[in-house]
Amino acid sequence: MPDELIYLDNNATTPCDPRVVEAMLPYFYDKPGNASSRSHPFGWVADEAANLAREQVAQLIHSDPREVIFTSGATESDNLALKGVFELYRRKGAHIITVKTEHKAVLDACGHIEKMGGEVTYLDVDASGLIRLEELEAAIRPDTILVSIMWANNETGVLQPMKAIGDICDKHGVLLMSDATQAVGKIPVSPKDAGVHLMAFSAHKMYGPKGVGALYVCRRQPRVKVAPLIDGGGHEQGMRSGTLNVPGIVGFGKAAELAMQEMEQETRRLSHLRDKLEKTLLETVEESSLNGTAEHRLPHVSNIAFRHAEAEGVMMTFNQQVALSSGSACTSASVEPSHVLLAMGRNRELAHSSLRFSLGRFNTEAEVDIATEVVRKGVEKVRSMSPVWEMFKEGML
Ligand SMILES: *Cc1c(COP(=O)(O)O)cnc(C)c1O
Repeated sequence: MPDELIYLDNNATTPCDPRVVEAMLPYFYDKPGNASSRSHPFGWVADEAANLAREQVAQLIHSDPREVIFTSGATESDNLALKGVFELYRRKGAHIITVKTEHKAVLDACGHIEKMGGEVTYLDVDASGLIRLEELEAAIRPDTILVSIMWANNETGVLQPMKAIGDICDKHGVLLMSDATQAVGKIPVSPKDAGVHLMAFSAHKMYGPKGVGALYVCRRQPRVKVAPLIDGGGHEQGMRSGTLNVPGIVGFGKAAELAMQEMEQETRRLSHLRDKLEKTLLETVEESSLNGTAEHRLPHVSNIAFRHAEAEGVMMTFNQQVALSSGSACTSASVEPSHVLLAMGRNRELAHSSLRFSLGRFNTEAEVDIATEVVRKGVEKVRSMSPVWEMFKEGML
């Protein structure tokens, strides 16, 4: 990897904080116990460490430690929440409501549920990426068992009005699940205050290790249960069997502790850098526009469309200098425009010409300035070679 490569793809994954790695290290060798081993100190030490981490994670989301179920990541947590609720509550009904801009982990789990005989309503969003509350309310039926709406969008950073959504679900007695993977650790998140009953999140999006995540499961008013995806030793209150990933969980706990301590300051710093990058690009690059609302969104994310500058080509001009994501997703067969941007009413061309900037704890102002300039030049270069841009400039498009 080139030494000077600037990483602005923190929504894909964050680097581990060195303090997280340090906290994890003893649990690989010096303290190797299985947290379920009750008969010797190795087990007790591992169990204690996992419990401390559970408290740290619970504190970050203002919850009871018993409401934290450790999993392998947000993909598993999303699947566990959706399929686990569908299986247990099916006698009540088989209808689920979600949104077109959800992460694939939610959309594909819903697709699976449809194959199993469930019915799923996919809500639209407006041009700014927000759901319409009256559409949500109108979609709720007597057989609706679950509403699943993400807290913060991974592509645009747009924040859904979770409290208002929670109020609607409460009014109709429907469970509410939220994929909060991009929100937890970045902004204050309290499922209890928002009326969220199940909430998925992941360590590696908040400077913890990959392969560990959690599902928040509300214990009181109402007491929520999910059927397990995996059968086995009955770990995690029977909802997620399998030997606990103690080093990973310890790292997750440490990451949660750091997020709590540093959130305010980090938000201030990153939103300043993000705003500077965004303002400069929107002002200096013609035919550029923001994807999603500028108001209700994460502090460190910006998604910008550069008309007639195909994003893959733009990124090619600087892929040894700056790492970003585009508004396209590689599926097995082809490069598809982002389903999120399409749902917001962007056309395929604009979606293919969009770049996502996601800043993180370890980015410096100098890096962001370099990246801004490199992207500006990249867009100009691609346009200078594009007959489509030329035609557009001559008013032929
Ligand atoms: C990254 C992400 C996921 C998947 O999380 P993993 O821990 O990698 O499985 C799910 N939802 C959202 C919104 C994400 O950003």
